[in-house]
Amino acid sequence: MTDLHRLSIREMAEGLKTAQFSSRELTQHYLDRIAKIDAQVQSYVTVTPEFALAEADAADAAIKAGNAGLLSGIPLAHKDIFCTKGIKTTAGSKILDNFISPYDATVVAKGKAAGLVTLGKVNMDEFAMGSTSESSYFGATKNPWALDRVPGGSSGGSAAAVAADLAPIATGTDTGGSIRQPASFCGLTGLKPTYGRVSRFGMIAYASSLDQGGPMARSAEDCAYLMNVIAGHDAKDSTSVNKEVDDYVANLSGTSIKGLRIGIPKQYFNVAGLDAEVKARVEESLKKLEEMGATLVEIDLSMTDAYVPTYYLIAPAEASSNLQRFDGVRYGYRCENPVDLMDLYKRSRSEGFGKEVQQRILIGTYALSAGYYDAYYVKAQKVRRLIQQDFLKAFESVDVIAAPSAPTTAYKIGANLSPVEMYLGDIYTIAVNLAGLPAINAPVGFDQDNLPVGLQLIGNYWSESQLLSVVHQYQQVTDWHTKRAAIAEENA
Ligand code: GLN
Repeated sequence: MTDLHRLSIREMAEGLKTAQFSSRELTQHYLDRIAKIDAQVQSYVTVTPEFALAEADAADAAIKAGNAGLLSGIPLAHKDIFCTKGIKTTAGSKILDNFISPYDATVVAKGKAAGLVTLGKVNMDEFAMGSTSESSYFGATKNPWALDRVPGGSSGGSAAAVAADLAPIATGTDTGGSIRQPASFCGLTGLKPTYGRVSRFGMIAYASSLDQGGPMARSAEDCAYLMNVIAGHDAKDSTSVNKEVDDYVANLSGTSIKGLRIGIPKQYFNVAGLDAEVKARVEESLKKLEEMGATLVEIDLSMTDAYVPTYYLIAPAEASSNLQRFDGVRYGYRCENPVDLMDLYKRSRSEGFGKEVQQRILIGTYALSAGYYDAYYVKAQKVRRLIQQDFLKAFESVDVIAAPSAPTTAYKIGANLSPVEMYLGDIYTIAVNLAGLPAINAPVGFDQDNLPVGLQLIGNYWSESQLLSVVHQYQQVTDWHTKRAAIAEENA
């Protein structure tokens, strides 16, 4: 069987249950592909063959004994921001190079409990700050569609691994687009759940009021399977919400597209940096949804201009606080020969953190400092509320809101955008995190360089089932999500 990596999660589960192949064979197949292909893509920071094969054998035994869960024996990759007991967790940073967590993140623990097999940990922008995965201490991950392009970020390793068929599904995190934008750049489906739906316990914090983990996969159906595993209340995360979890797989056909009201924010399609081909592909996908029975309704999101400045105050402010714990004392990198405690702190942090992270710590510390707190941080919090209200008002007249996930397709590696240029690329994703809403990226075509374009659908709180269902039905009548990068066609 050379094409196990072409199967959907549902087909893999069926194949395992009916003994067409074992989890060991499936897992070995992916490990072989990683060994052969990942040198070109560089999606993995750590590959864990021993762990994976032991988990695969346990899954095979459970399947034989007839007490296996639905997804038992299916491999996945975890973003290197999720703590994994006994496996190193770096968050893409030198400061955590060789950090081994004594416990599993809840997302990881839930995956293990469901019988999922961990292939390894995948690359990311340092502490999830970035949009290209180039800020990783471990080097830039390549976009499988064009190896001279970035896969997006910060969950660029997750996106590249799935797009190159080096993992069938992966976890990602999204603080300001880090699931949706790399999914868009790599032609995948990725869901950012409602804030509080997926536990943040053991997920290294960037901006705690914005961070949310979620699934990245080829299709909405595959995402739904992983959501069924990772969603749910967790007493170890105080912002996790105690609300019944949907069966996302059972609900895949549950939303009627006929009569679905899709809001088109007039501000979004006039953004200066919006690429003409991205705009065209997104509009074509909306036309398709219209043919399927949806109604397009123009809406007003008048706070659009405030998204980037608001996010780039709040996220660094929270980051500057969260990253205080990396002090060279408790864990992670420590500088050589410190002369005193101050020197130890200063040099451990200056040598351990990369440039982008240091820049954000400075911005955040400034925004939180005594003289500027009211002028920057408090003001940003007030604007954040207005942005949320803008969305809630829109949801009085529409069911979902459509937007591009990113204004462009994947950048060239080393394009060296200025911080402002880079931050403007987050215009379509960050407001969703500020408001705590769920949103999904779906691949909807390509530009003239054969780079994927993504449509984003934003839903009201707890509408993950609806978002997955709309994309699933779109994927039943289109085939963008089945297209594969040339490198994914290679066999191990
Ligand atoms: N590009 C955004 C940032 O750099 C998003 C990051 C994220 O979602 N983790 O902050």
